[in-house]
Amino acid sequence: MPPAPSQDLNAIAGLTYPFTTVPAPGEAQEVAPGVRWLRMSLHLPALNLINVWALADGAGWTLVDTGMNTADTASNWQSALAGPLGARPVQRVICTHMHPDHIGMAGWLTRGHHCRLWTTRLEYVTCRMLVADTGREAPADGVDFYREAGWDNDALEHYKARFGGFGKAVHALPDSYRRVVDGEELRIDGRIWRAVVGRGHSPEHLCLHCPELRVLISGDQVLPRITSNVSVFPTEPDADPLSEWLASLASIKARVGDDVLVLPSHNEPFRGLHARLDALIQGHEERLAGLLEALVEPKRAVDVLGLLFRRRVGLDMLGMATGEALAHLNCLMARGQVERATDAEGIHRYRRVN
Ligand SMILES: [Zn+2]
Repeated sequence: MPPAPSQDLNAIAGLTYPFTTVPAPGEAQEVAPGVRWLRMSLHLPALNLINVWALADGAGWTLVDTGMNTADTASNWQSALAGPLGARPVQRVICTHMHPDHIGMAGWLTRGHHCRLWTTRLEYVTCRMLVADTGREAPADGVDFYREAGWDNDALEHYKARFGGFGKAVHALPDSYRRVVDGEELRIDGRIWRAVVGRGHSPEHLCLHCPELRVLISGDQVLPRITSNVSVFPTEPDADPLSEWLASLASIKARVGDDVLVLPSHNEPFRGLHARLDALIQGHEERLAGLLEALVEPKRAVDVLGLLFRRRVGLDMLGMATGEALAHLNCLMARGQVERATDAEGIHRYRRVN
């Protein structure tokens, strides 16, 4: 899933990008001993490429993330595997999380190479759940959720028409997988890669930290130039993913040293992990403070989109933007700073607690 429509327009102080070249789709570039950087095409409103990684592993490769299920991605993989990856076998596919740009080709790769998908349990199970919605009609709970947030009928019709699209971007998921747990040490080519789980962007997002190489594969948990989407979804309207997100960023700072080369899923590899974590936390805290200020007058979720996003939010981004607004509102409610009331039309209105 792409990041939020908000972009960090200003360069973050303290970040450096050590590579002056980027691999074209189908190519591979070494970024650390045994670690190759590949990029797969995406066709998303806010993003056109995802980074994936090939780790040398004995006679073959362990792949980390897979791209979205499209003919372009299949062709990118075929070129990469036959060319720069030297036609060596794929021995394992690790996915950081269940968004289609990451897990979309996992089934295609694991079936084609007779190997196992490795990921966390909540990512695997949640992906199975979302794929199972493909072809279903939009549920009443979902329509109610967005109506309560202040959507008009046009927006609700757009939601209904697009519901169930998740599965189209995911090749048939493997029917079994290998669970990875937080703190687990995976051995890849004789080196330890420690699993560092984060929450908030997705339920149990897997980062991989190799202390020996001083490399962190950060997935969407830490991106240098864009902020990851942190959203409330209709399946769990009272969720507080932003508190989980902020706690995860703090936990990564405590667990992973500042000397790592960070390999993110979007933008370019960078150094300056702790500066980026601090900036992400500070950015959300500033948005929360601004929101709190604005809620002296009661507002609907849709009324605060202009406060949270610099860009105008069109229909194609409305679900993600509303989810992100609700993440900030639910966080303020969990902190006891905001209360929610339901008006006569059944719309939720949020106001600052005096
Ligand atoms: Zn994602």
